Amino acid sequence: MEKKSLLTISRRKVLKKGGYFTLMALASTAALLARPGRAYAMSKRAARYKNSPNGSQNCANCRYFYPRSRRCSVVSGKVSPNGWCKLWR
Ligand code: SF4
Repeated sequence: MEKKSLLTISRRKVLKKGGYFTLMALASTAALLARPGRAYAMSKRAARYKNSPNGSQNCANCRYFYPRSRRCSVVSGKVSPNGWCKLWR
């Protein structure tokens, strides 16, 4: 029967667990970035958000708008479909 040193077994366990934790950290970061209206979003004031459209531009036809949650991926908090800010695209 082959004898394994405790150091070898321990290193393997550490590598396996390290890989697991790295994977979990990447997965949670990706999940956080995929959700709209998170901490990295700009404030309404900084984005010069207003509750009225700017001509034909409004949140409802902006690429950053999430209609179901009425949130935006670049401005924090809920936004109106009729709103607008300087980040409109
Ligand atoms: S217009 Fe501004 S607040 Fe509205 S969805 Fe687009 S980026 Fe967000």
